[in-house]
Amino acid sequence: MKYDLHTHTMYSKCSNLKPEILLKLAKKKNFDGIAVTDHNTIQGSLAVGKLNTDKNFEVITGSEIETNQGSILAYYINEEIKSKDLMEALDEIKDQDGLVAIAHPFRTSLHMRHRFQIPIKEVKGKIDAIEAINSRNLPGNNWKAIKTADELGITKIAGSDTHFAFEFGHAYTLFEDNLRKAIKQNKTEIHGTILFGPISGLMSYFRARLL
Ligand SMILES: [Zn+2]
Ligand SMILES: [Zn+2]
Repeated sequence: MKYDLHTHTMYSKCSNLKPEILLKLAKKKNFDGIAVTDHNTIQGSLAVGKLNTDKNFEVITGSEIETNQGSILAYYINEEIKSKDLMEALDEIKDQDGLVAIAHPFRTSLHMRHRFQIPIKEVKGKIDAIEAINSRNLPGNNWKAIKTADELGITKIAGSDTHFAFEFGHAYTLFEDNLRKAIKQNKTEIHGTILFGPISGLMSYFRARLL
């Protein structure tokens, strides 16, 4: 199975992607599923899920939550995560039987909130995965995430962090059968490129500020 586990739609102010376009792109590029992870809302994922009529294609309801300690990706949730406190948000996700990955933990960014603020080993028992390839990261950021995940024995996932159509699928996670099982058993394979990262980041920066 081939999934992109980090995508945005126009429900994020830094993205212009219409739900129907994201779905169309994913299917055209032969993905088996996507997680839609808009900033602090599941509305985008619900919108894409509603449009999906293909039983062989999975749309995971999710969100990228900007907590006080950095961003986390929540998967398989069905209600909005209310708290912005990391520990409380992790509890909320677990209460909904969701999965959680730390998003781009070592991203180089002007915004401190974009990188994870505490040592990952301190939350090891509370997370399911680390986003070890993010297409908007710099190479060193991804290498450090891969190394950390391997050292701590944490599952690695990959996602493009698509905000605009041309970014879709630049990183993806491969697994057999069932994603939840693959993450729990640390049986994922990650792939991706960061070639278009810098231009993508700038486009989001200007979109969020000018529109
Ligand atoms: Zn964004
Ligand atoms: Zn994102």
